[in-house]
Amino acid sequence: MNRVSARKGIDYLLNVARTIEGADEMRLFPRINLDLPVVMNGKLSGSTATLANLSLGGAFLRGPFPPVRIGDPLFMKYSLPSQGPFEQSGRAVRKEAEGVAVNFYDLDSTSRIKLWKYISEELKNLRQCPYCGHPHAALPSKCTHCEWNLEFHSPEYLDSSPIPKYQNNP
Ligand SMILES: [Zn+2]
Repeated sequence: MNRVSARKGIDYLLNVARTIEGADEMRLFPRINLDLPVVMNGKLSGSTATLANLSLGGAFLRGPFPPVRIGDPLFMKYSLPSQGPFEQSGRAVRKEAEGVAVNFYDLDSTSRIKLWKYISEELKNLRQCPYCGHPHAALPSKCTHCEWNLEFHSPEYLDSSPIPKYQNNP
């Protein structure tokens, strides 16, 4: 094997690894887009933001924030339609011009079930696969394009999707 093809082989393997990693994350956390006001607490007490998307693993908060650093704990309060008030903590994992991405690291099982009820209801209205974006007139139990499981309403769905453990120091 010459140097060029060895390099190509390595690139190929790295790409496969990246794809698997990304895919794993997506399978665990189908996300929905929304537009809900959020009241922040803790260090950001008094700030308001908008919950722009939500999954069981985290959310994206849009809004002008006072400086937030990666790893900062964030406390948020919002009211989920049909599920009522919600208080939750998370950790800033990514900053973008529009806001900050938050990971939930200590969802208790009651909150997890409530959140999932809401998310799975919203997923029902989707006209495309939440993983690959392939359009569907009605969501099949398995995406015909990426073949990922779309049975969000089956009672087993949540149990078969383990929640990864977040480390306290990202
Ligand atoms: Zn798909």
